[in-house]
Amino acid sequence: MRPLREKTTKRNHCCFAALLLCEKKPAPQAPARMNSAYLCSLVFMENSNPIVRRKIIHIDMDAFYASVEQRDNPLYRGKAIAVGGSPEGRGGVVATASYEARKFGVRSAMPSKRALQMCPHLIFVRPRFDVYKDVSRKIREIFSRYTDLIEPLSLDEAYLDVTEDKLGIGSAIEIAQQIKQAIRDELHLTASAGVSTSKFVAKVASDLQKPDGLTFIGPSAIEGFMEQLPVEKFHGVGRVTAEKMKKMGLFTGADLKKLTEQQLIQYFGKVGSFYYRIVRGIDDRAVQPHRETKSAGAEDTFPHDLTDIAEMHAELAKIAETVTKRLERHQLKGRTVTLKIKYSDFRQITRNQSFPYPINDYQTILDTAKHLLAGTSPGEQPIRLLGITLSNFGETTVPLGKEGPSPQLSLFNFEEE
Ligand SMILES: [Mg+2]
Repeated sequence: MRPLREKTTKRNHCCFAALLLCEKKPAPQAPARMNSAYLCSLVFMENSNPIVRRKIIHIDMDAFYASVEQRDNPLYRGKAIAVGGSPEGRGGVVATASYEARKFGVRSAMPSKRALQMCPHLIFVRPRFDVYKDVSRKIREIFSRYTDLIEPLSLDEAYLDVTEDKLGIGSAIEIAQQIKQAIRDELHLTASAGVSTSKFVAKVASDLQKPDGLTFIGPSAIEGFMEQLPVEKFHGVGRVTAEKMKKMGLFTGADLKKLTEQQLIQYFGKVGSFYYRIVRGIDDRAVQPHRETKSAGAEDTFPHDLTDIAEMHAELAKIAETVTKRLERHQLKGRTVTLKIKYSDFRQITRNQSFPYPINDYQTILDTAKHLLAGTSPGEQPIRLLGITLSNFGETTVPLGKEGPSPQLSLFNFEEE
């Protein structure tokens, strides 16, 4: 789509400017445990098009629920605790285990009964979700000091795009360190961070030195990193798929790399092409700050009530355009289009239609709105307001999801770590 293309070019210019600024500054000293390559030189030329390399941080709180409980209750500190369901009931499951409990093999999603067998002195703690939500809000407030491009994945995990950070720090590693420090100082909790140029690598990296880790995988290290990565560490590869891969003699990224895209699709379904790209370090998914947005819409109250259908269509066209722009700006696609109508007597109705796939294009939105309007006997009653809303958002840029070969492949099914 043309508008999107223009937007991309503009953004690239922007980052070029950022690069120039960046180069004037002396490079800060990188701590010894990290790769010395810096994420500053983030633009390179390929086929004469400037490609922007993003600076992505993935932050993941360490044993979040359990750490909050240990922080708030001195009796739990240094003890094996499990936040979750009681082992007495039938369906009790561990949501998060403290690191002391993990030493005994207690893991999240494990039945509480089994956890107690593995660790007989395990203390079960009832979750306090309102407290976790509150802490989560404070964590996000810390993130927002550096960037507005925050994509929360759960209460304790988020991607941050700091390609252009608010404070002009420039170094993603420095920002990750500051965030970790702020979380420690202000919330008395620890977080682990992964820093790289893509969401996938940043996410895997944040897990490598838990707890309280910071792992940087620089652009030149990505391919090698992916090659040595065991298949079960591939974020998105579930246990079943990992087993299948091992039976086929595929143990690492390097093994996956030997297969063609066609072969990967043949063996693993559509997600195969995702593996093909990811193992080569190709992951251009943007951080989506409005993932939590439930809907995007626009409405208009008219200076005079409408009775003419052509006039209604003209108004719907304007509203659909606004909605389309909003969707584009936030990189959203939705499956449900809702039409809202308010009549001259202030009576209000809504009609909606859902699609099996997400949409965000102007014509489909407008046509659907017109179709929904047609079903309401328009013209019988004067209309004072029309609105269109798109909702039912899903992940738009990853070829995973409902059409994927097996449910555990969903990239966005997280367990609390
Ligand atoms: Mg976590």
